[in-house]
Amino acid sequence: MFYGDYHTHTVYSHGKGSVEDNVAAAEAKGLKAVAVTDHGISGYPDSLNPADFESFIADVEESRKRHPSVKVLAGVETNLLGADGTIDLPRSFEKRLDLIVCGFHFARVPASWHDFVHFWAPNMLPTKFTAKRMAKNTDAYIRAMESRRISVIAHPMRSLRVDLKALGEAAARLGVYIELNGKSMCLSAADLKTLSATDCMFICSSDAHEPARVGDFSAVRRYEEAGLDLARIANYGKEPAFRSDAPSARREPLRGGEKADCGVSGATDGRAEREANENG
Ligand SMILES: [Zn+2]
Ligand SMILES: [Zn+2]
Repeated sequence: MFYGDYHTHTVYSHGKGSVEDNVAAAEAKGLKAVAVTDHGISGYPDSLNPADFESFIADVEESRKRHPSVKVLAGVETNLLGADGTIDLPRSFEKRLDLIVCGFHFARVPASWHDFVHFWAPNMLPTKFTAKRMAKNTDAYIRAMESRRISVIAHPMRSLRVDLKALGEAAARLGVYIELNGKSMCLSAADLKTLSATDCMFICSSDAHEPARVGDFSAVRRYEEAGLDLARIANYGKEPAFRSDAPSARREPLRGGEKADCGVSGATDGRAEREANENG
């Protein structure tokens, strides 16, 4: 019933299987498409290393040959690193990817010290629930969507609280899918209702970190109980149409978007360490 699984990880970040393993698992489950979307691209541990990018693409191409019945997409789950929409995806790699999923993970390095103090830290405090904080977080996602070819917002409301009405409206305007993530089911029934009241479309993904979970769309059952309209799911019974535009004319990140590609100085604290295992 699901056309494809568009969020899976491999050993190129911290998944357990290879690209070939995930594609073989997708084929075995009768999927017509699968995307490998490892974390990064940065030099951060547990992320796709820039030095491994060619090998990653070669593995995707090899799997396409071995499994002609499965459409294999080369993707990435890039990290939102700054309040200005900075992500850890160099533009040189962006051009060669079919799919860009964007999520926030505490266990990454903020784009700058300023972002650590004003973006990371407040989201670890009770202030993360204030309307002002949520508006700032939402604006970070919107700036990223407006300035880069992001196709999917991964697991909204996990780690970063956002204004879902504003996020859903922006996603609908820009043609970005809101993810229903099978690993992090962090949307409440009320959250789903808020998103559903906008014109946004959803995409249901496994976020598999091991081949056995590729094609696990259990999120749909949970959210169906909460009133989810299956017709709003882009990969349910049909092939999603991912964004292909390069949004150059839109609002640019305040500080240039890609300077924080990798290895930027910054800080994490105990909380980030603790979340390292759960994040992603
Ligand atoms: Zn992960
Ligand atoms: Zn993630």
